[in-house]
Amino acid sequence: MIEGIIAEAIVQLYRRGLITLSEGNVSVRKDDRIFITPGGLRKDRVRPEDVAEVGLNGKVLRGKPSSEYRLHLEIYRAREDVEAIVHAHPSFAISLSVAGISLEYPILAEAITILGPVPIVPFELPSTEELARHAAEVASHRDCLLLENHGAVTTAGSIDLALAMMETLEHTAEVFWRALLIGRVKLFEREEVSKLLALRRSYGLPPRDWGPEDFLYSIPEY
Ligand SMILES: [Zn+2]
Repeated sequence: MIEGIIAEAIVQLYRRGLITLSEGNVSVRKDDRIFITPGGLRKDRVRPEDVAEVGLNGKVLRGKPSSEYRLHLEIYRAREDVEAIVHAHPSFAISLSVAGISLEYPILAEAITILGPVPIVPFELPSTEELARHAAEVASHRDCLLLENHGAVTTAGSIDLALAMMETLEHTAEVFWRALLIGRVKLFEREEVSKLLALRRSYGLPPRDWGPEDFLYSIPEY
């Protein structure tokens, strides 16, 4: 049952430390509507019957959806292939966004293959139309986003993949943060990035428009 899968997903995000008790949301698209986690409830106690339903036209059909439901709707409208969205607040990913450092640097093989380049969407107030619109503009040509001083978004054809991508994103951010702290970061070169992107097919992932030129190859100075 779709509601059960969504409830389980948000509890998993909490247990994994990717959200706090009051933050984050998960949705799945089915035909002309989305199923989304509720607003205002503790994320470790969301039950299937709490999951809300919203039409793609924005009409709330059942329950009390997350205040961030516009973000989900705009991304679904922009991306017909996306069937699931995870929005979390993982510490390392947010820390990088606070420092103005995106995840467009090619540092880990799996991240390059599975996530692609992950840009930062400039800050807008949470739960607003502006945030939803700007995030959807970027999501129209990227699968994963950092929301400046706020959080991260992953989009995929299934909830399992969107969850796995969020975990990979945060793991990558943590590794990058630690390497930046050490002060030496080895980036992959364009040719290696090209080969890593070609692995999408063997991972069963759909092709994407981005290429090696969409990654960044020199670390900013502080
Ligand atoms: Zn948020």
